[in-house]
Order: sequence, then C-alpha cells, then structure tokens
Amino acid sequence: MFDLEFLIRPNIRAMKPYSSARDEFQGEAQVMLDANENSLGSTGPAQFNRYPDPSQRAVKAELAQLKGVGPAQIFLGNGSDEAIDLLVRLTCTPGGPDSILLLPPTYGMYEVAANLNDVRIERLPLTADFQLSPEIVAGVLASQARLVFLCSPNNPTGNLLHAAAIEEILRGFPGLVVVDEAYADFAAAPSWTTRLAEFPNLVVLQTFSKAWGLAGLRLGMAFASPELIGYLNKIKPPYNISAATQQHALAALAAAPHFEELRQQLLTGRDWLAARLPELPLVAEVFPSDANFLLVRFRPDATAVYDYLLSRGIVVRNRTTQPGCAGTLRLTVGSPAENEQLLAALGEFR
Ligand SMILES: *Cc1c(COP(=O)(O)O)cnc(C)c1O
Repeated sequence: MFDLEFLIRPNIRAMKPYSSARDEFQGEAQVMLDANENSLGSTGPAQFNRYPDPSQRAVKAELAQLKGVGPAQIFLGNGSDEAIDLLVRLTCTPGGPDSILLLPPTYGMYEVAANLNDVRIERLPLTADFQLSPEIVAGVLASQARLVFLCSPNNPTGNLLHAAAIEEILRGFPGLVVVDEAYADFAAAPSWTTRLAEFPNLVVLQTFSKAWGLAGLRLGMAFASPELIGYLNKIKPPYNISAATQQHALAALAAAPHFEELRQQLLTGRDWLAARLPELPLVAEVFPSDANFLLVRFRPDATAVYDYLLSRGIVVRNRTTQPGCAGTLRLTVGSPAENEQLLAALGEFR
C-alpha cells in the first residue's frame, strides 16, 4: 500500500542532482586542482581549505555502529531542522493541494517549514493529557496528508506518545510517518530506529543538540529506508555538513562515557525538579516528562511567574498560548546549581 515513488514530488523524481567535485573524485591526490579551493591554506587558526566529504562517510560509519542501522539508512542535516524542511519539500508541491498533518501542541518548526514551502497544514489536536487516542488515530488514518509529524517525546509537553498508537499509524497511514525523537536519549523507551525494517514509511529524526550537548554545532540525523535517504541526499545542498562539524562529531562519538555522564546528570536533575516543584503553592501541575525539560502549569498567572523569573535573571519558555497549554511554562533542566536557583526563586515568588 505504501508507495514511495508516488509520494516524491514528480519534479524531484525527474531532476538530476548537482554533482560536486568531491562526488566526481573521492580520496586523496597529490595535486588537487578540481574544486577551486585555496591550495595555499586557510586564514585563521585551523586548516579548512578543502571541501568536506559530501556523504559524511566517516561520521555515518560510527553512527551506524552506535544506532544499529546501515550507513545507507542515515541522512545528516544542518540540524534536524534541515531534515524537516527537506522532508516537506521532498513530498509536497508548493502552492498546491498537498498537505502535512500536525498534532498540536508540538514543535514549531514543522509549521514554519510548511509555511516557508507554501504547503497546507492539517491539524488534529492531541488529547488534554497530550496523547494519541483511538479517535485521533482514526483521524490520522483518514487524512490525505503526504506526511505526518509525530513528536515523541513531544516538545513542549515532554511525554512519549503511546507506542501502540504510533504503530497503528505506521501500519495504516499511506504517507510518510516522521517520528521526531530529539529527546529519545532521555526516554525510557526503545527508539523507533529499531523498527525501520518493518515500516518503509517510517522516518526517525534525532539530533546532537540535546543529550550530546552540541546545539551550537548544528547536526541532526534522519533514519529511514535507503530509498528515502537517497532522495534526501539527492536534494540536500552538496556540502551541508561542514568539515569542522564532521571532525567534532567524530570526536564526540568517541567520547561515549562523557555522553552517558551528561545524560545521567540531566535525568537526575529532571527527577529532582519533578519531585520538588509540586511542593510549591504556585505550581498546579507538573506534567510527566521523558525529555530534558518539564512542562509546568502555574497558578494563578503563569505569565506573571515568567516575568518574575526574568527579573531574577532566569529565562524559561512561556507556552501559555500553545493549544492545550494555558497556564504553562516549559523549564529546561539545567546544571544542579541552576536547578536549585530556579527552585529557590520560585519559592520566593509573592
Ligand atoms: C530541539 C528539537 C529539535 C532539534 O533541532 P536541531 O535543528 O537538530 O537543533 C528537533 N525537534 C524537536 C522536537 C526539538 O525539540
């Protein structure tokens, strides 16, 4: 029933991709005069005079090991935001009837990518506790959208979406099912990357921006079938991942113990905040979180709490205007000292 070729925009199916110098010649030659680089060297403290590997083979080889997938199942983007934009562009013709399906409240970049590409948006709100219900699943399966974004753990709510409901969508939805796992490293559930072989319509997004602590580097991952990854590679800018990013990602991937230490500290901080916040009279509800943040409902006035925290030098995210999120602020888990400072400030709110 799933037909990838049908989902790909006809002009993208037909187009010839750019062939870069590094596509046409790979490896090292003594004299490299094919790419109009500067053979004398680089300005600044480090050498970056050569174009980077456009297929990021070294990084993908390490990632394939870590994630238990093949290198041909990995796309790397300039942040997962680039993958989100390319997925919309790959499947939806601008200005036409094609649409994407969103389940608010959710990550804002899906909507921005659709608007930027002049693509229609359909919306099916999550339940009051930010979950998929049988009715919502039925609505997704009935939709004509070319792709649905499922954010799990969801931003800004922090919860995992029910796996059984996601599985029903994967089995019955004829478009692409994009499961955004930006926060998967903080979640007590297996990644959907472990199910790629079962679902040709599944795309899993992950990122180096959260648990890896590399938001400034801009490196995101998409995992899917080799056919779909081939199309993403066809339309990406040829050198979308810089040499600096590739080098740094390799160093980070070799530092597994440090990654694990950061991850554990953030989980400890999340549990510490989740245990103490409900003791404060101004806290009405702390939503369960499988991420590195907590969505918290404040009474009587979340925006007053937001402004007060700002006056104390603490910036959090005001989510009061998001669907279903009235009265809420999103608090990122910080260092132990920052978490204590946040809790102390909230305790002194009058
Ligand atoms: C933070 C976040 C991302 C990460 O985006 P990058 O471009 O990789 O930094 C993706 N999806 C969600 C839901 C996020 O919260």
